[in-house]
Amino acid sequence: MTWLDEFDGRLAALDAQSLRRRRREVVPEQGARLRVDGTSLLAFCSNDYLGLAQDPLLREAVHAAVDRYGVGSGASPMVSGHSAANAALERELAQAVGLPRALYFYAGYATNASVVPALVAQGDALFSDALNHACLIDGARLSRATVHRYRHADLPQLEALLAASPARRKLVISDAVFSMDGDVADIAALHALCERHDALLLLDDAHGFGLLGPQGRGALAAAGLCGAQASPRVIYMATLGKALGVAGAFVAGPDRLVEWLLQKTRSYTYATAAPALLAEAVRAGLRCVLGPDGDRRRQQLQAHIAQLREGLAPGADAAFDAAGWALMPSATAIQPLVIGENAAALRVMAALREQGLWVPAIRTPTVPTGTARLRIALSAAHQPSDIEALLQALRIAAASTAALPA
Ligand SMILES: *Cc1c(COP(=O)(O)O)cnc(C)c1O
Repeated sequence: MTWLDEFDGRLAALDAQSLRRRRREVVPEQGARLRVDGTSLLAFCSNDYLGLAQDPLLREAVHAAVDRYGVGSGASPMVSGHSAANAALERELAQAVGLPRALYFYAGYATNASVVPALVAQGDALFSDALNHACLIDGARLSRATVHRYRHADLPQLEALLAASPARRKLVISDAVFSMDGDVADIAALHALCERHDALLLLDDAHGFGLLGPQGRGALAAAGLCGAQASPRVIYMATLGKALGVAGAFVAGPDRLVEWLLQKTRSYTYATAAPALLAEAVRAGLRCVLGPDGDRRRQQLQAHIAQLREGLAPGADAAFDAAGWALMPSATAIQPLVIGENAAALRVMAALREQGLWVPAIRTPTVPTGTARLRIALSAAHQPSDIEALLQALRIAAASTAALPA
């Protein structure tokens, strides 16, 4: 037996823990419906929070861009890949978030995984929220800086770690909206700590850009740290595949930091530039996000969040109370319903699926043991009747799983 044969055993171990993942083949239908392996399902799993991924204006922008630029960018942005469309998008993104300059990347994961090592190195100190996204964690590892992990949102612990660190260069990294819990970081307080300890702050606003703050300008704008109040020590990062409905990411911040990242971020320098067709789609999405249509979509989303939370509130329904499920305290489109064990969360997911709904179960090790959950993602693409359908299906699932022996 060579070590190659171990992979069968490793895969079997994943099966034994209900951790084997498999993909579904998906074709979008109307609204929030998806055709999944041939079956039409009402989906609560997309990060397309504003329903822009299918929008006619974005489609038109792509068609026009293909006619003008073709399909591929052909090279790294450092060579000939930096199209006029990508350049225009960078200016518009910087303006949208109220920061001096922006840099447009082809993917969010690669952005954080390489921005962190561009900022800090061996001998420097990193301070990372325990619930940060995997790409920040991987960026921290790649950097070889000393990583200090603080308990989720525990700013007194962060302050103590900052005060105790002898490192000359300190970088605090945090999600702005936490992707599995849906809660929002206290950005003003994080920034104040960074000022006190001469640290930089890198914020990942993948789930806030397009949604939070005035006109959806994001978590930093919501915290007032933009325009004349922009901080010289904050680097803002957001992705474009969620509320913006397309793909890609950007960083924005003070000119000298963005110029440094342009020079030293390996996933920027050594990767083919995002094609202009995507940049033009994002530009169209951004016009929508910043305009009255964006306000209308954000209002719809807020109404869906309120409807779901009301329906799942303690006392609203005896079946939920008996099941012991707990909706986490989130005000964002991410509404996690904690079920408990991995297998239990999978059973509820399967019960919903039988009723024609797709709500993903998030399991250990993505979330802490015993907090396996349904990650309900709401969108402006939903109708109020979709939220009611979800609540009704959850009632039935709660009643049927409660009937099972423990
Ligand atoms: C989705 C996500 C990313 C990765 O962005 P992609 O563009 O999908 O690679 C990064 N950070 C957070 C918090 C995310 O949720």
